[in-house]
Amino acid sequence: MPKVGIIGGSGFYELLEDPERLIVDTPFGQVKVAVGKMGGSEVAFIPRHGERHEVPPFMVNYRANILALRTLGVVRILATNAVGSLYPAYGPGTILIPDDLIDFTKNRPTTFYDGKTRIRIGDRVVGGVVHVSMTPHTYCPELRGALLEAGRELGLDSVDGGVYVCAEGNRFETPAEIRAFRMLGGTVVGMTGCPEAILAREVAACYATVTVVTNYAAGVSGPAKLTHDEVKEVFARRIEDVKSMLRIAVERIPQERSCACKDALEGAVVEP
Ligand SMILES: [Zn+2]
Repeated sequence: MPKVGIIGGSGFYELLEDPERLIVDTPFGQVKVAVGKMGGSEVAFIPRHGERHEVPPFMVNYRANILALRTLGVVRILATNAVGSLYPAYGPGTILIPDDLIDFTKNRPTTFYDGKTRIRIGDRVVGGVVHVSMTPHTYCPELRGALLEAGRELGLDSVDGGVYVCAEGNRFETPAEIRAFRMLGGTVVGMTGCPEAILAREVAACYATVTVVTNYAAGVSGPAKLTHDEVKEVFARRIEDVKSMLRIAVERIPQERSCACKDALEGAVVEP
């Protein structure tokens, strides 16, 4: 059973030694998962945008991805996301571990529990209407702690906390949207953090993410026009740091969970 699942760009394949490619069936579709060794731990990896970056953010099968990891027995999920910064102080290259999120997606299924589908979570089958809580911690404090500790060991100046705003995409945001996100308390903006974090909570899995600032969001600083090439270039420069951070974080995650994530379904299922 893999100790940790990782969801990120296809560049993270290199984290795994001798990866084995598995196909996992879920009620929401099939998922290709690579399972291999990372240091002393077994880790499962899913490239969020496909192996050749062919899947746009709104088309990612978030439900199938999260459920595929849970089906393999994964209860801890680490993710990576490229983000735009809403503040001049967090320039391109900044690594930030958010502690909360605001969901501004519009056209994505954000729940497993559509009233009909029943899913297997460990040794129980859950369905019907389920309302999980995102308090007191939106992201798992144990996983965030492991990531921040890894960052400190590596001497990376990673930022502890911030609010991830998830926009629908595919386009980048307008200057007015960015002003609005900042007024609402956002710190960084991306297109893939939701519903991933929410779905992880719905299956009582721990979830935290490493965000890498690839650019200033519209109107924050610098040249007005943003290109995807710039985003890719900054992320590529930081990818080795993020890989090192993930390698160390996986070793620092305690064997037993003492966070509240594992109890996310207690009292959340509406009995008919
Ligand atoms: Zn947790």
